[in-house]
Amino acid sequence: MSDEERPQLSDDERSRLEEKILTDSARMGLDDRFHFGCHPGISCFNTCCTDVNIFLSPYDVLRLKSRLDLTSTEFLDKYALLPVQADMKTPVVVLRMNDDEAKTCPFLGDSGCDVYADRPWPCRMYPLGLAASKDTPDGWRGERFYFLLKEEGCQGFGEAKEWTVREWLDDQGMDAYDQWGEAFKELTLHNFFEDGGTLTPERLEMFFTASYDLDKFRDFVFESTLLERFDVDEDFVEEMRHSDEALLRFSFLWLQFSLFGEKTMRIDPDAAEALMGEKK
Ligand code: SF4
Ligand code: SF4
Repeated sequence: MSDEERPQLSDDERSRLEEKILTDSARMGLDDRFHFGCHPGISCFNTCCTDVNIFLSPYDVLRLKSRLDLTSTEFLDKYALLPVQADMKTPVVVLRMNDDEAKTCPFLGDSGCDVYADRPWPCRMYPLGLAASKDTPDGWRGERFYFLLKEEGCQGFGEAKEWTVREWLDDQGMDAYDQWGEAFKELTLHNFFEDGGTLTPERLEMFFTASYDLDKFRDFVFESTLLERFDVDEDFVEEMRHSDEALLRFSFLWLQFSLFGEKTMRIDPDAAEALMGEKK
């Protein structure tokens, strides 16, 4: 992959974009209303599914790889770009557009989105964006608000159908995506980073594998001594063998423990005793 192919959004650009949203956008709450419609009969149908930067969350990857019946490693190899920047703090995964002139989304079919039921978070949210005011002591954890994103050429705002923000979020099935998104933010917006902490390349790779490459992480969990070293409920262990959601829950707990020293995992007392014995 060449550097030109990699989507680049420097911290400065991202910060300028965030400031612009905070100053220019009308803030909307759950009961605020807007007009919008998107359907096969609209003149712009599918034109927005080309040349677009779609940042994927671990839950987006989980849903898409299951939908496509691929392992996470296969999905990431085929459909993801992994931008690398010197100042990168957390893993970033972007959906790779096709290599055609229009840079079409690989999931765009003749009659629309081929992965519609499992489309990523940004595709569900549009035309809404989500932000949080920064002028609170805990920064991005401050008051959240929605705003309208009006992409050039999008005819959907001229449609008669009216929504409240709450109705739109319900209709788009945002609940599960938001819950997983919040859990991921506990990692990506951890105080460790706000206090200036950075991860070594090895730890960043571990962060990426555990959160995005779940099938590889499953091999690590079951083929290493990890489960001998920690006290993990047996039913939960069995669930993790087959359920990606259970494994992702475990991954987030383990990352909180191993990256930031949070007490989210309990060291197995026998393993701790054995270790103490070895040290004597
Ligand atoms: S995932 Fe579906 S909705 Fe999203 S850009 Fe691709 S084709 Fe469009
Ligand atoms: S441009 Fe707007 S209305 Fe047209 S297909 Fe995309 S989201 Fe729907």
